[in-house]
Amino acid sequence: MTIDDLRKRLNQGHSGSLSLIGIPSDTNSSFLQGAAEAPPFIREALFSDSANMWTETGIDLGVAGTIFDAGDLLLEDTPWETAEEAIGLLLKHDLPPIVLGGDHAISYPVVRAFQGNFPQLSILHFDAHPDLYDDFENNPNSHASPFARIMENGLARRLVQVGIRTATGHQREQAKRFGVEMIEMRQFGPDTRICFDGPVYVSVDIDGLDPAYAPGVSHPEPGGLSTRQVLDVIQTFGGKLVGADIVEVNPRKDVNNITSIVAAKIVKEVAARIIFDR
Ligand code: MN
Ligand code: MN
Repeated sequence: MTIDDLRKRLNQGHSGSLSLIGIPSDTNSSFLQGAAEAPPFIREALFSDSANMWTETGIDLGVAGTIFDAGDLLLEDTPWETAEEAIGLLLKHDLPPIVLGGDHAISYPVVRAFQGNFPQLSILHFDAHPDLYDDFENNPNSHASPFARIMENGLARRLVQVGIRTATGHQREQAKRFGVEMIEMRQFGPDTRICFDGPVYVSVDIDGLDPAYAPGVSHPEPGGLSTRQVLDVIQTFGGKLVGADIVEVNPRKDVNNITSIVAAKIVKEVAARIIFDR
């Protein structure tokens, strides 16, 4: 779908408590390509007849008019501008977006659009990696750098990271510089409580999970979160969830689509939380 297609569809009138949109870009991946192919796999798992559409918390996402599926965005020559504009349109139409990546670089333009609508935005970020490199392999737009761009542009009041287990000296310095609250995996436990005031954007890099749960990633890092731990945090953190991305699923590395199925499960519970918080 082009940005003009999306605009036309939205102007024709729509119903929906939230929206789903694929941003199939992985040009800023540093090691392997493939994340751009993820959105159709996650969608297929989400709408598969192997499960029903009820969330754990009792919302039937299968009710017509609940999810507005915008499809996958055609990115053309100016991918980030197009992505930011598309997310801005969905927000303007009161359709809080759940974005399917794509590599993690897309979070920067997406968060730009959110910040325009929610100036007090905080971010809850699941990842094995802090993604705070000032620039990575001479690419300041790298998927290893989105949260450096977000923080230096003042797009988040608070950034809380969960699942981190690869922080380098440089990234620890960057975290200190930007006041990032890094909850490293070795510190994470059943007593971890995460609380925000006001609107929260959740960014889920699927490699925050242990590769045993989510093997289909470009940078597998053992020692990570379980699916259950991620769902528990999403269901219980304090604050108002206004949108999310689920990024870095790499179908080329997946085993029996299990990573797409896990991503779809996270989409469901994120959707439930957005609806509850509306
Ligand atoms: Mn990562
Ligand atoms: Mn990441």
